[in-house]
Amino acid sequence: MKYDFNTTEARAKTLDEQDSLAEYRSKFFIPKNKIYVDGNSLGLMPKLSETSLLRIIDEWKTIAIDGWLDAEKPWFFFSEDLGAQIAPIVGAKPDEVVATGTTTVNLHALVSSFYKPKEGCSKLLADELNFPTDIYALKSQVALKGYNPESELILTPSKDGRVLDEKDIVDLMTDDVALIVLPSVLYRSSQLLDIPHLTKEAHKRDINIGFDCSHSVGLVPHKFNEWDVDFAFWCSYKYLNGGPGAPAFLYVNKKHFNEYPGLAGWFGNNKETQFNMSLDFEPATSAGRWQISSPGIIGAAAIEGALAVTLEAGIENIREKSLKLTSYLIYLVDELLAKKPYNISIGTPRDPNRRGGHIALEREEFAFEICEALKSHDVVPDFRPKNIVRIAPIALYNTYQDVWNVVQILKRIIDEKEYKQFIK
Ligand SMILES: *Cc1c(COP(=O)(O)O)cnc(C)c1O
Repeated sequence: MKYDFNTTEARAKTLDEQDSLAEYRSKFFIPKNKIYVDGNSLGLMPKLSETSLLRIIDEWKTIAIDGWLDAEKPWFFFSEDLGAQIAPIVGAKPDEVVATGTTTVNLHALVSSFYKPKEGCSKLLADELNFPTDIYALKSQVALKGYNPESELILTPSKDGRVLDEKDIVDLMTDDVALIVLPSVLYRSSQLLDIPHLTKEAHKRDINIGFDCSHSVGLVPHKFNEWDVDFAFWCSYKYLNGGPGAPAFLYVNKKHFNEYPGLAGWFGNNKETQFNMSLDFEPATSAGRWQISSPGIIGAAAIEGALAVTLEAGIENIREKSLKLTSYLIYLVDELLAKKPYNISIGTPRDPNRRGGHIALEREEFAFEICEALKSHDVVPDFRPKNIVRIAPIALYNTYQDVWNVVQILKRIIDEKEYKQFIK
């Protein structure tokens, strides 16, 4: 994709004028006077989330227990409903997705079911750049099955500490691997892995594969069925804007609906018979069988409004604008901040097909202090050790002007050596 960028502020304004998603910014609560570029950690609140939250709070006030069946959207089916709503943007059938648990809990629920180590085939293949919680959970799953995580959890190494080479992952898909769990987008460098390719290679070797899509759902279109992914899970508070600690999602490919849940609970029961209160668990024949407990309806309420915004904007349009925003940021950094004394480099793959929604700005020295200086200018980025400032311009609510401003502020922070104030 060739973009018509230049470094002037006038161009930023033109890009905003030409932006077909520009109207979506007004559908969010934007923190006053802030340039919020941290939506990859916590998405901003959609106004429609306030609407759906208030409805459910009112139902709790007025009909209480009857809300389970008589609410406008009955709470008893709410998790499945949200799953069916999000299914199109992940390329799944409506009953293959459910809103439940949290990211790490869903990882546990799925891996406890799909990791079946046996003599000679007991390895769990992951990678060394994943978000730490995934690795903690995988280690404990290996130990729970009576194996040694030190020898059985294989972490694909990275050559440069930024990205993974899919070939290295495939080379590790050996006969002794029982399951593969990988992230879709790496949380530091923003590398997007080739999910269809990795899935195909895993299946050639008869290995099941699952993905943590926390950094890609709501940003990148997924086609789980077409790619034949076995399972996936993701949080709803990053690009989906579902709110802090909102319920997460999980996807299970229909072909695995007969798999017995490793962490069973009564909300995974067939809904028709759940209230028979039998001591024999009768798992639902849908992804719903991986639910454990009563759903957190209030947290889930916010997702309803947030999803409506994403679905209306269209995931293809969101991806297109996100790539243009991140390309613009890369362009401005290359033009204005790459040379001495700025020395800022791009730690994210430049190939748009290999990157997610944020850009990792790297600087050998004072990256932390520069991040603090950005905050003092009301920019909201985040810092990841040891030298990365992550900037996520979000398609639904950030502007090209935001990106231009962030780059100008960065330039000033270094021109004026403002970061020195933040050296401890
Ligand atoms: C954000 C994120 C999580 C968060 O886990 P929680 O259980 O929601 O706290 C986990 N894994 C990845 C890859 C993430 O990006």
